[in-house]
Amino acid sequence: MPSGMHKFPIKGFIETSFLDWKGELSSVIFFAGCNFRCPFCHNSDLVLRWDTLSDVHLEYIILTLRKYKQWVNKVVVTGGEPTIHMGLYNVLGYLKREDIQVKLDTNGSSPSVLRGLVAEGLVDYIAMDVKGPLERYDTWCGTKVDIKKIEESIRFIMEGNVDYEFRMTVVPSLHREEDVYQVAEYLRASDKFFLQEFKPRQCIDRSFLNVQPFPKDVFERMDKNVQQIRVTGIKPEERIIKFREKILKPDRADSK
Ligand code: SF4
Repeated sequence: MPSGMHKFPIKGFIETSFLDWKGELSSVIFFAGCNFRCPFCHNSDLVLRWDTLSDVHLEYIILTLRKYKQWVNKVVVTGGEPTIHMGLYNVLGYLKREDIQVKLDTNGSSPSVLRGLVAEGLVDYIAMDVKGPLERYDTWCGTKVDIKKIEESIRFIMEGNVDYEFRMTVVPSLHREEDVYQVAEYLRASDKFFLQEFKPRQCIDRSFLNVQPFPKDVFERMDKNVQQIRVTGIKPEERIIKFREKILKPDRADSK
């Protein structure tokens, strides 16, 4: 292994996880730092205070992956935001040389990096967080965001050949239900779009520690409505309007 491999800003490593790549057993690598400041982010140490965290050396990760190769041949690369680091290419290159499949978690702010990684065959799955409707993206991300880059990443991912998913963390007090449905409609043509529950822990904005997740029944209703939008393209409030129109102004065939 070349020397200097340890100099990547990797601050966490989970040997085995069933949670980070749906339906798969994987290891997880955490890159430090992020160019967003989502107030609800539950990785505040990794985003804001990563220089206080210990490095995990890539040599150690590679040797561990070799040890467990018989059981685990997938790695989730997450953060923070991995695409802000040019070293990401090298790290993924090392993983690929070990014949490891890679899922990349990203906020979609660097479409050029995504293009480069895909062109080099370094990723097998992309999971992009969509934070909310694009018109108010700065609000969801706690910083100024170049929306064109977010749109470009979404388009690139949807039009490409790499498996992917979009996901949105729904946060009471930040998102309204219609924000969720607006995103679902925007991503209607995508392969997969999942909602994620907000967890009030280690938040960047500490006032979010007092925000409780949506109640289970509300979350399940939103999830069901999202699936409905993906199938029919009709938002819940439009369904009510159409239903009322049908009842109040039945067409001729119905009135017979
Ligand atoms: S939730 Fe936001 S701030 Fe936290 S790592 Fe993801 S993009 Fe960065």
